Amino acid sequence: MATNRTFTMIKPGAVRNGHIGAILEHIVAGGFKIVAMKYTKLSAEKAGEFYAVHKERPFYGELVDFMSSGPIVAAVLEKDNAVEDFRTLIGSTNPAEAAEGTVRAKYATSIGENAVHGSDSDENAAIESSFHFSGTEIY
Ligand code: GDP
Repeated sequence: MATNRTFTMIKPGAVRNGHIGAILEHIVAGGFKIVAMKYTKLSAEKAGEFYAVHKERPFYGELVDFMSSGPIVAAVLEKDNAVEDFRTLIGSTNPAEAAEGTVRAKYATSIGENAVHGSDSDENAAIESSFHFSGTEIY
């Protein structure tokens, strides 16, 4: 996968709170092109696999429960410098520390329920995109 792509999920809390449309609008207004997208739900097993890197962290169980608690929107986004620019667009992990106007400042309710995921490296963007999408589902 080219390094101008990143992977995102609109998390179950933001979906439940009716923020799908506003978050997608924010993303597109930020200059990102949606090249793959699906409305889906992670099983607890799949959520655990996706966040396996956090297995030893105290919040892992809570994270897996939350991420499998309802539907999500998964998407692959394209823009120059996608990974870094998307992390800037969404803001800090903890919404209380997220810069004003960022997605997490506007739509997250807590550090655990922080509205969106954004890949933290080109390598993870590629791994996470292929976790959710086959090559023929990305345009
Ligand atoms: P991100 O890259 O900004 O998403 O942050 P991390 O990779 O550090 O953490 C992954 C996800 O774990 C975050 O997006 C949160 O949903 C969750 N998380 C991180 N820290 C905490 C915490 O202290 N408590 C809880 N409940 N969840 C957390």
